Amino acid sequence: MNVSLVLFTADLRLHDHPPLRAALDGARQVVPLFVRDRAVDRAGFAVPNRLAFLADCLRDLDAGLRARGGRLVLRSGDLVEQVCRVAGEAEADEVHLAADGSAHARHREERLRTALEAEGVRLHVHDAVTTAVGPGTVTPASSDHFAVFTPYFGHWSRWRLREPLDAPRTVRVPEGIGSEDLPSRKGLSGLSPALATGGEREGRERVTAWLRSGIGAYEEGHDDLAGDATSRLSPHLHFGTLSPVELVHRARRAGGPGAEAFVRQLAWRDFHRQVLAARPEAASTDYRTKRDRWRTERTAREDVEAWREGRTGYPVVDAAMRQLRHEGWMHNRGRLLTASFLTKTLYVDWRVGARHFLDLLVDGDVANNQLNWQWMAGTGTDSRPNRVLNPVTQAKRYDPDGAYVRRWVPELEHVAASAVHEPWKLPEEERVALGYPEPIVPLPEGLARFRRARERT
Ligand SMILES: Cc1cc2nc3c(=O)[nH]c(=O)nc-3n(C[C@H](O)[C@H](O)[C@H](O)COP(=O)(O)OP(=O)(O)OC[C@H]3O[C@@H](n4cnc5c(N)ncnc54)[C@H](O)[C@@H]3O)c2cc1C
Repeated sequence: MNVSLVLFTADLRLHDHPPLRAALDGARQVVPLFVRDRAVDRAGFAVPNRLAFLADCLRDLDAGLRARGGRLVLRSGDLVEQVCRVAGEAEADEVHLAADGSAHARHREERLRTALEAEGVRLHVHDAVTTAVGPGTVTPASSDHFAVFTPYFGHWSRWRLREPLDAPRTVRVPEGIGSEDLPSRKGLSGLSPALATGGEREGRERVTAWLRSGIGAYEEGHDDLAGDATSRLSPHLHFGTLSPVELVHRARRAGGPGAEAFVRQLAWRDFHRQVLAARPEAASTDYRTKRDRWRTERTAREDVEAWREGRTGYPVVDAAMRQLRHEGWMHNRGRLLTASFLTKTLYVDWRVGARHFLDLLVDGDVANNQLNWQWMAGTGTDSRPNRVLNPVTQAKRYDPDGAYVRRWVPELEHVAASAVHEPWKLPEEERVALGYPEPIVPLPEGLARFRRARERT
């Protein structure tokens, strides 16, 4: 056996990469391949913020490979066709790929296996590359997946993770395999101005800094909107510049309540993946329907626009929506309360909000996004589907002195903490001078509409 091909997908790294390790163990030469998959573009997932981050990741992966004597091969088009073509050019007799439970990935894997087998090439699929614990690894006795997080987490925590792998020292790529030019951020328009930088090197630096000086305060600080005390590793986990297995090991070694709380969040990521792997339709339909007759993009046009643009008149909602646009990222507490506001207070279909998030989030991820949206809409795995987050109460609890609101809503920059979350209570003259919108709907009205709708079901 001389040449193996490694197909990189959502695992754009060299450290702790089982497919790469297996390919190197079995062959003298390896073709590291990334295919810019036309199907992903067609499905609308290739949005500017993620394309920019992806470009960083591919360049960094190529640099890492070059430092080891290799290089990245980039092709675009139909993924299966491209893999077969490159395997043929390199005379590879096996292809290594990370397992992925999404419907798109499983369909891709099936097509790939059939096409490669017809050429006499074997496909090896490796678990626990894009997750710590893969879908279907732990299951309840009576079902193909866990629908409730707590028992899932119990099993997940007891699962013995494999040991992380070092990055390879050398990677030898056969001569004469052509590659397209790597993409770059230049020329991409519509990027969020403060978008994070991608790539394994950046991801690993972030983890080291996080474990040294962030994780210890995570348990008490993770909900503090202004404190910004979460890891911000989500885009790196989404693109696989970090290994979830390695991250869990390193966090556990760091130890303490902060690390425990952080590892629990990593388990949520796997939890949503195993739900979606078992119920792929939950990406677009209710996991547990409440027979909602949602207001839609068309019937609630003005409300949806105000929500997207961060001018609902509720400062904490607007701050979070503006953060999303500016950074391509939003604090988890902001995601929770803006999703509650859209689905419960405005009673707009969760899919409208999920789409907007996917258009902008650099970590935009079908499993995490759609299932968290369903959680907030009360159609997902939450056992309290009718809970409504009051944006004023939330703001006072998680942004007590208004620093987060003032950071993102300059109209309120000079409003005192006592009024910043309820500017409509200011005297009229002051209110008008701010140039900040009035609430698009009084909270009791929104709540009553939601309760009526849910009682009807
Ligand atoms: C409406 C809504 C939409 C969301 N959309 C996405 C999305 O598209 N992509 C995405 O990665 N996360 C999504 N999340 C989950 C969560 O908000 C983000 O993962 C988190 O804010 C990322 O910031 P961080 O890396 O600093 O997180 P940390 O708090 O540092 O957590 C560490 C990691 O744990 C995982 N994680 C944390 N919270 C959750 C959660 N609730 N569900 C699943 N995994 C979690 C993430 O991978 C995260 O990077 C969404 C949440 C909501 C409520």
